[in-house]
Parts: sequence; C-alpha cells; structure tokens
Amino acid sequence: MALERLQALRGMVDLLPQQTMVWQQVEEQARQHFQRAGVGEIRTPLLEATALFARGIGEATDVVGKEMYSFRDRGQRSCTLRPEGTASVVRAAIQHGLLGQGPQRLWYMGPMFRYERPQAGRQRQFHQIGLELLAIANERSDVEAMAMAWDLLDDLGIQGLQLQINTLGTPEDRRCYREQLVGWLEQRMDQLDPDSQQRLATNPLRILDSKNQATQDLLKEAPQLLGTLGKESRGRFERVCQLLQALDIPFVIQPQLVRGLDYYTHTAFEITSDQLGAQATVCGGGRYDGLVAMLGGPPTAGMGWAMGIERLVLLLGQQSRTTAPQVVVLNRGDAAQERALVLARQLRRANLRVELDLSGATFARQFKRADRLGGRLAVIIGEQEAQAGAVKLKWLHQAPHPGSEMSRREEWTVSDRDLCRTVERLLAGEHQAEPTPV
Ligand code: ATP
Ligand code: MG
Repeated sequence: MALERLQALRGMVDLLPQQTMVWQQVEEQARQHFQRAGVGEIRTPLLEATALFARGIGEATDVVGKEMYSFRDRGQRSCTLRPEGTASVVRAAIQHGLLGQGPQRLWYMGPMFRYERPQAGRQRQFHQIGLELLAIANERSDVEAMAMAWDLLDDLGIQGLQLQINTLGTPEDRRCYREQLVGWLEQRMDQLDPDSQQRLATNPLRILDSKNQATQDLLKEAPQLLGTLGKESRGRFERVCQLLQALDIPFVIQPQLVRGLDYYTHTAFEITSDQLGAQATVCGGGRYDGLVAMLGGPPTAGMGWAMGIERLVLLLGQQSRTTAPQVVVLNRGDAAQERALVLARQLRRANLRVELDLSGATFARQFKRADRLGGRLAVIIGEQEAQAGAVKLKWLHQAPHPGSEMSRREEWTVSDRDLCRTVERLLAGEHQAEPTPV
C-alpha cells in the first residue's frame, strides 16, 4: 500500500532558508525600532480561552464568526488559536496588574491563525508584528503609534505606501451616526449585496468596509460619520491630522474606514500599498478605549496596530541579501578534515560567516562550489598544511577584494595561530596586510 504523502495543511506555509533570511531582517529592524522607542516586548500563549476572543473581538465579526480555529481540549475547555494579538495582550496586562503601573508600551510578534481562503498575502497561519499603547489617551500617542509603523515600513525600504486615516469619534458619536446610516440604507436595501444586507441587522458600520463594488458605489452617497461628530471629537481629529503634517507623514482621510465594534474610538487607520493587489493592507490599527473594560479591567485607554509580515515580505520582493559566506574552508584528507572543523569553528567564533566544506571532494570541485556560494576568501587545508599546522589562503573568484590582479591569483600560507587575525585584516580590505606570497 502506498504511503499517503504528508503535506503541510492548506494555508500553512513553510519558510525555507532563502525566505527566513528576509524574515530575520524584518524582525531585527522591528526589534530595533521598538527598542529605540521605549517599547517592551510581550509574548503571550498561542492558545487562549475562546471566550477571550468572543468578547475581545466580537461575535459579529468575520474573525469570530467564521475564521477561528476553536476546539475542545482534553479537559473539555473551549480553546482557540489566537487570531490576533490585542485581546491576549490586554488580558495579560489585566492579569498581571500592569495597568496599575502607569502607561504600558508593548509590542509583540508571532503567528496568528484564521480559517480563511488562502491566496497571495492571505494564509491560515500568518504572522503579525504589533504595537499596543495602554493607559495613554492623548492624541499625540495616536500619532506616535502611526509614526512607528510608518517609519518601520519606510526603513525597510517599502515604497508606494499610503496612510489612510479616519475617526470613529466616541461611542456616543457613533450611536447617532449608526441610526442615520441604518435609516439611509434601509431605503436602499435592494441595492446591497447579501453580506451587507445581513450586516445591516448585526453590525451596520461594517457595511462601509464592504469589498463589494456595487455597495461601495452606493456608499459614496451615504451620510458620513465625520459629519455627525461632536465638537470635541472633531477637534481631536484635527489635531491628529496637524501632528501627522508636523511629522511630514503623508495621509489621506478615508471616511469609509471603520471598525464596527463599540470599544473602538477616535483614530482608525490603515497603511496600504498599491502593489499588493486585493490584499492591499499591510498594517491596520486604531484606538480602542473601551476594550480593556470590556475584558474586565479598569477603564483604560488603548491604541495599537498590527502589520502582516507575509504582505510586508511580498513588498520587499527578492532584493538580494548578503548572506554569502565570507570564508569557505576547503579541506581534503583525514588530518586536514579534522583541522578544518577546528579552524572553521574558530573563525565563526571571531564573528565571521564561514562555510565548511564537508564533501570530501577534490579541491577543484570544492573551489567550484565555493565560487557558486559567492564566498570571498578560501581557506585551504590539505594533508601538507595539516602536518605543518598551517593553511593556505586564496581570494575566491567573486571576491571584490582590494588587491591587484596579480595578488588575486596568488596564495599565501599562514600558520593556524595567525589565521583569524589575517582573515579579518584581509576582509577588512587592508591590502598592505596581505602576507608575503609563498
Ligand atoms: P483583511 O481585510 O486583509 O482581511 P483584516 O482587517 O482582517 O485584513 P487585521 O485583523 O486588521 O486585518 O490584521 C492586521 C494585518 O494583518 C492586516 O493588515 C494584514 O496585513 C495582516 N493579515 C490579516 N489577516 C491575514 C491573513 N489571513 N494572512 C496574511 N496576513 C493577514
Ligand atoms: Mg480579514
């Protein structure tokens, strides 16, 4: 009987070394950005009680209604693989009493799970980098948070970005608006797509977010939330816009940008790219002043965002990256192979990128492979060198080394003892430090 071919689940993606190189770069940049901004990392479990998301994201959302990976564990508790980070972070902040300790500036990174239809930039296990600012209510924090997202994407070299912002006002503002909108839409029920018809009863503000083109066209005529804002909310939004201008961050006001739940307040924003097709949003976020109380904590302001790493990596494209080895250690013969293992380790401990050839093939083959890897300097150990406690050094074909054409072809012998120092000097481009040719 043929064995069934085992494959990753649909929408769950392996990242191979070629790809993890890019990911590591993104992760490292994110870490540095947060560190410079005084934001601390928080790591929460991947698995939480289902009730956390039902309350923290809302039963009426697609995420909770259709996309969660929920199951009963062996103790019959309903568990869910986290579909997003905010609810978990807020739960942890409440659970550990962080909110009594003043403002919290937290970030996270890791996998999220949603049962969606997989396509480019949309997976079932995907990854987010996220920021949450808790117990900071003023509008400067909205702008600081947006600037952190913008600058991270900008520093990664992503182009064609657009910041879209809107305000949802206070829950009071939204109640007024919801009434207006529902009234207006009820008269045009027959022009709405089926999904939106259903939302009219459950979550009418989400209709503004519909991806259906006919519905979007219809909505161009609909009353706008900006028009029903109270004076205070309007003033706050204007200050947010002013501050973005002061930071030179370009933005457009997007009245259709909404989040349907009651705990969202004031600023909502997205950063989109014109190069992502249908999955255009790289980063989404906003203020959620009602969430902490909703999850059983003291009334506490909150502002945050999450960006999808897969989409970000798609945008980074296949720019070439420098992970080629600096040194390739070629070796042949029993004693030489043992020396090579020792010396490669020494070079790595000196912080060099070192490829150790383990093939046992002829030197000609090992050289070919070293060139293919894009290595710069070859360390060559044959039986003779191993006996003498020395190695040969030679520039590899692709090395943009500082030496003359002459020295490109030359080999040097150095003792094992001097190896690390000599290699470091050669790679640093101190040509005059080249040892005398043998
Ligand atoms: P979308 O409208 O694309 O479904 P969303 O509103 O569900 O996005 P959020 O919950 O705000 O997304 O998540 C923030 C970011 O996480 C998104 O802007 C996107 O970059 C990323 N993201 C969300 N869902 C997925 C997914 N299934 N696969 C890959 N990335 C995702
Ligand atoms: Mg979604």
